[in-house]
Amino acid sequence: MLGQMMSQPLLISSLISHAERYHASGEIYSVNTGGGVEQTNWGQVAQNARLLASALSKLGLKPQARCGTIAWNNRRHLEIYFGTSGGGFVCHTINPRLFPEQLVYILNHAEDKVLFIDKTFVPLIAAVRDKLEHLEHIVLMDGHDAQAAETLPGLVFYDDLIATGDAGYAWPEMDEYTASSLCYTSGTTGNPKGVLYSHRSTVLHALAGNLPDAVAIAAADVVLPVVPMFHVNAWGSPYCCAMSGARLVLPGPGLDGPSLVNLIDTYNVTLAMGVPTIWLGLLGEAKKIGSKLASLKRTVVGGSACPPSMIKAFRDEYGVDTIHAWGMTEMSPLGSVNRPLAKHSALRTEEQHRLRENQGRPVWGVELEILDENGNPLPHDGKAQGDLVTRGHWILDAYFRSTSEETLSNGWFDTGDVATMDPDGYVTIRDRSKDIIKSGGEWISSVELENIAIAHPALVDAAVIGARHPKWDERPILIAVKAEGQDPSEADILAIFEGKIAKWQLPDCVVFTDILPRNATGKVLKRNLRDQFGDVLMA
Ligand code: AMP
Repeated sequence: MLGQMMSQPLLISSLISHAERYHASGEIYSVNTGGGVEQTNWGQVAQNARLLASALSKLGLKPQARCGTIAWNNRRHLEIYFGTSGGGFVCHTINPRLFPEQLVYILNHAEDKVLFIDKTFVPLIAAVRDKLEHLEHIVLMDGHDAQAAETLPGLVFYDDLIATGDAGYAWPEMDEYTASSLCYTSGTTGNPKGVLYSHRSTVLHALAGNLPDAVAIAAADVVLPVVPMFHVNAWGSPYCCAMSGARLVLPGPGLDGPSLVNLIDTYNVTLAMGVPTIWLGLLGEAKKIGSKLASLKRTVVGGSACPPSMIKAFRDEYGVDTIHAWGMTEMSPLGSVNRPLAKHSALRTEEQHRLRENQGRPVWGVELEILDENGNPLPHDGKAQGDLVTRGHWILDAYFRSTSEETLSNGWFDTGDVATMDPDGYVTIRDRSKDIIKSGGEWISSVELENIAIAHPALVDAAVIGARHPKWDERPILIAVKAEGQDPSEADILAIFEGKIAKWQLPDCVVFTDILPRNATGKVLKRNLRDQFGDVLMA
């Protein structure tokens, strides 16, 4: 062996240790579940995380024991992230918006021994507690609460629990491939599937996320992760922030426009991360109260396609750079990030802006390829569209406790998305493969039509689905939600497509509805829309 460098495993505890040693005073503001804002810092969070790890060991938890969380983005949740994984246990974040049956399935499938909950979720857990087969301890993420204790007999209180930990606890050494955290996909069909991350994959993902052409979180940033900590580890932001010592604002349960604008303006947030629907509320509120979002420099938007009109509003009205990113639970989630190349600065401004609209290029550590229906690579010409497949350091190999061997094909994970890729590697997500519209042998991207429709000022939400058609098999129809006080006609709405797409791609009709159905992670449930409206063209 010629290499003479030290051998140190890549462990999540190294992230929090770094934050503790070099950024102890870095502020963390956390909105309490019951209201009010608490101020803490990395030093305190690290100390509590160690106390928690020690307390969990004293409870007799075995290495790799799963510890569930059903909680908002707050400082105790942050401590649990590091305390559980750092101590050799698995931090299993659970989405509270799942149906109770799914919740029970997930907790039993993961064999969670401990469950940490915010007060909001006491009734939810009280209702299903008898069905949770492996659970030994339920911990309320708070101080003592008599009312909660009455609802859930035997309830442990977080502050009491960590008080039993040893202050001198030292993080254990372990193999970097040890499992660290677990997140289930939202599963719109069948049971949710578990994605088990390792220390190594998490640390490498955080490192890549902090690269300048990714999200580049710095110590000088104040980061507002609006993306929930129960959704793919808040896109890894807690780990990225600990690694760089960035300050954090954790928004708690209030994700409405007014709450977010207030947090940004009060704590001088420089970087906010979230799904497009969240930013609609934020932009609406900022406009209403005349906030300039003065401190905000960039937003990271992903989870579903960011409409170009949103990128424009952030840029032109607030001077905020939108970083459009794409990924999925099975990818930890980071896959691609839209950042400009040096050669783009020579282009006309409008062209530069247009190039910022797609889902960007792969970051180091992730490879992407597009394949035709026979599994052959397609040209990267920005036109050919195919199944987007991926492999890399933080990409799923097999689902948690899955018995099927078929997760990968030739070493690649099929993302289920259909995309084009240009010669520079910029990816445009055209659709989920099951949502793309096939009309008379041609493919129509529902995402492209939605991006155009949502820019209509009389609409607040829009989705495009393929409706059955007697001649063309499928034709696009637009399901639209009117903005308050607006009453546009079908022709008003369809006029916005003029000159932007080929005539044959124009939706055949517009159906107005009150609200779009969404799954637990905020994605539109197109299957439900197809059930409801899929036959409107057959009459
Ligand atoms: P999830 O695992 O719940 O995070 O969902 C992952 C899926 O969300 C991806 O496979 C895409 O279909 C979709 N998605 C995520 N980010 C984007 C984006 N920037 N544009 C379009 N679709 C996206």
